Amino acid sequence: MNNLFTKFKEIIANNKSFAIISHLSPDGDNLGSIKSLYLYLKNLNKEVYPILFDKIPSNLKFITNDIPFTSNDKLIVDVLIAVDCGDKKRLGNIEYIYDNSKEIIKIDHHISGENYGTLNIIDPQISSTCELISKLFLDLNIEITPEISTSLLLGILTDTGRFLYERATEDTFQMAAKLIENGAEKDLLMKKLFQSNKLNALNAINKINNNAKFYYDNHLVITSVTNDFLNDYNLEVSDVETAINYYRDAEEVEVSCMLKEKENNKFKISFRSKNYVDVNLIANYFNGGGHKFASGCIINGDLKEVEEKIVERFKTINWQ
Ligand code: 5GP
Ligand code: MN
Repeated sequence: MNNLFTKFKEIIANNKSFAIISHLSPDGDNLGSIKSLYLYLKNLNKEVYPILFDKIPSNLKFITNDIPFTSNDKLIVDVLIAVDCGDKKRLGNIEYIYDNSKEIIKIDHHISGENYGTLNIIDPQISSTCELISKLFLDLNIEITPEISTSLLLGILTDTGRFLYERATEDTFQMAAKLIENGAEKDLLMKKLFQSNKLNALNAINKINNNAKFYYDNHLVITSVTNDFLNDYNLEVSDVETAINYYRDAEEVEVSCMLKEKENNKFKISFRSKNYVDVNLIANYFNGGGHKFASGCIINGDLKEVEEKIVERFKTINWQ
């Protein structure tokens, strides 16, 4: 890792203009990573262009308000930086920028994916890309300002489910403590991320879970959300995504899966597991990816067909 960190510093020192690209369906780890790198490069007086092709979830807007995102896909910069994204195709339409950049830096913690960078800093064991960037900054003696600390702690909190998951290790807790010591606004983050739900959204989440379907002796639970449903409640999909966690927390449930309609006959699927099922393998089968306990993919078909395809795939699992 140390060699990679040194190479990172060299690339930063030797170049002037940078684009930092978010992935589709950006999440806390992605946006926290982008903001920390944006602030770091700005402090060095570099030219920085954060790029966003998708929508920011409403509960994360507080952290991105002051990031001047552009959706310009015809930028020419020295260096393109992609964070928290295993697969290049999840970055959206970046071919032009990709082809015209001298260097591509990939910083990531996904098990799946390809080395699309000229520099690939990847640690599949670490809790989050934000923890990896914290390590990188500490190692390179880069100043972690209070604002950078808050951005980095955000990604650690969201990717570990507030330190619930196994990947929240002793190192993760220690890094979080260091960030708080450096001025990260822990209480603000906790409230904004986890205690600022719209009442309406919580009602919708109840409804989604009331319609959950259980398979394989309750080891698998499937919930779904359509665009009509969201329109009825005047909500966005990101407002109700936490529904996936509700039944996952039941002792009997090993895998929780949520189907989210993207457009007609096209669903974004999220998988979460708890103990032994590797949902990355399930997502890989459907050309998606992620981690052992959290993964996703896109499946085409109507709701019933998509659900059947998923249930069928879990036939291969030896439930414990
Ligand atoms: P989520 O369900 O929160 O969207 O994603 C869970 C994990 O799976 C994340 O780490 C995310 O990067 C990964 N993931 C979600 N959707 C996709 C996808 O379509 N392709 C790939 N390769 N990974 C995905
Ligand atoms: Mn992540």
